[in-house]
Order: sequence, then C-alpha cells, then structure tokens
Amino acid sequence: MQKISPAKGSEFGRVVAIMSGKGGVGKSSVSALLAVALRRAGREVGVLDADITGPSIPKLFGLHERPRSAGEGEILPVETRTGIKVISINLLLPSEDDPVIWRGPIISSAVKQFFTDVRWGRLDCLVVDLPPGTGDAPLTVMQSIPLDGIVVVSSPQELAHLIVRKAVKMAAALNVPVLGLIENMSVLNCPHCGKPIDVFGESTAEEAARIAGLRLLGRLPIDPALATAGDAGMVEDYNAPWMKEMPAWIGDGRVVC
Ligand code: ADP
Repeated sequence: MQKISPAKGSEFGRVVAIMSGKGGVGKSSVSALLAVALRRAGREVGVLDADITGPSIPKLFGLHERPRSAGEGEILPVETRTGIKVISINLLLPSEDDPVIWRGPIISSAVKQFFTDVRWGRLDCLVVDLPPGTGDAPLTVMQSIPLDGIVVVSSPQELAHLIVRKAVKMAAALNVPVLGLIENMSVLNCPHCGKPIDVFGESTAEEAARIAGLRLLGRLPIDPALATAGDAGMVEDYNAPWMKEMPAWIGDGRVVC
C-alpha cells in the first residue's frame, strides 16, 4: 500500500505510533504522556488519535472544542492548554457520547484524512495513538502513514506477552522499526511504605523484551494520580520522574524527537 502525504505545509520531524495488544493497558495514556513530556522539553507536538472507537485522547486533555475549517477542505487541529495539537474523531462527532459505528474501510479512510487533510503545520513529533490489536485498523494505519517507529505498550498480565512478538512481526513485515516496549501498570508502590507490590505477579517485561529482541524502554507504575488526572482532563498537569526520560525513549538512542 502506498504511503500517504501530509497536508500542504505540514512537516514532521518524526512520526511515532503507539500500539498495544488489547484495550485498557494504558496505550492512550502513554500516547498522551509522551506528547506532554515532549512539549515540556520544548517540542512542537501533535497527537493523531487513530483509536477511533475509544474517546480517550480528547478526554485526557479535556478537549471539547470542534476543529475549525482551514479552507480548501482541510481542518485545523485543536490545541490543548499547553499547545499540543490534537485531532480525534470524537472532536468531530455531533455529540461526545455518540458511538462510532462505522465499518473498517470508513474508519481507515477517516484516519488517513487525519494525516492528509489536517493542517498540522511543522511539528517535531507526531504521536499516533493506534487502535488496539494487530487487526485490520492498525494494519491500515501502519501501512499508509509513513511511520518512523512504533512503541509497544503492554501490561504485566498479558498472556506470555504474545502480543509483543506479534507486534514485532507485524512491524517487521511492514518495514517499520519497533523502538521498544513499555510495560505499563508494572507495579504499585505502596502509598504508606513505598514498597513495590507486584499486583499482577512478577514482571516478565525484561524477558518478553529479550525474546522479542526489543529495548525495554520503561516500566511505569500504577499511579492513582495518573488515573485521576486523566479522568479530569488534566493529563498535562501530571508529572512523574520517569517522564523526563520519555523523549529519549522514542529517539531510538540517536536523535531526540
Ligand atoms: P488504552 O488506551 O490501552 O485502552 P487507557 O490509556 O485509556 O488504555 O487507560 C485505561 C484506564 O487505565 C484509564 O482509566 C487510565 O486512566 C488508567 N491507567 C492507565 N495507565 C495507568 C497507570 N499507570 N496508573 C493508573 N491508571 C492508569
């Protein structure tokens, strides 16, 4: 499948997609946090929400505004409080709680339009929040959007991290480099004594990364403050020491996005 080109005047230093094997592992949260971390580091950042059926991205940033027309059939992304540019189908629906009941091909063409018909401008990094899984929707996005790399998010309870190997194989078949693995909800640090509790059993992230030949970029703890910030649309107010490392995670050790 041919790669598509962005709208006139839009340029990306790097386009990085975030994928996961299933919903609920924190893929959208990691996408949002990555954008926040890059913005804090002074980068121009955009988030393309390709996870059409989940309203997570606008919700995390507390966005309700509709994208404005830029003329010539193009639209402008909505800007968050700190200047992150966002486009999501949920910003275009008549009502936030409307479900997206489209079939695969329509979803695919909507996501492609988010790349081709949105005036992103010049961004250092575009973060693409992929739909979960390795099915048709993520496949089309990965085939058509020119990606520089993929980051895989998993949680400790994912069965033998099969998805990590599936993701690596899928990316290899499509010639997209996998930048590494992030284990989310890795441990819970006891709020009283600080001792880490392996809620889902001992982490197997290192082993899963080794078997798949990937870099383990990070192990993110369960943090109720993150869930609360996300629920309140205040993900940009969330901070944790590991967020400083995030820009380097997607730079593949060579360039920082
Ligand atoms: P996905 O995009 O994989 O479906 P989300 O990012 O929407 O997952 O996260 C699912 C839920 O888990 C959300 O309510 C989110 O706030 C919460 N969550 C994600 N990561 C963490 C974490 N590290 N600590 C606490 N809650 C988290």
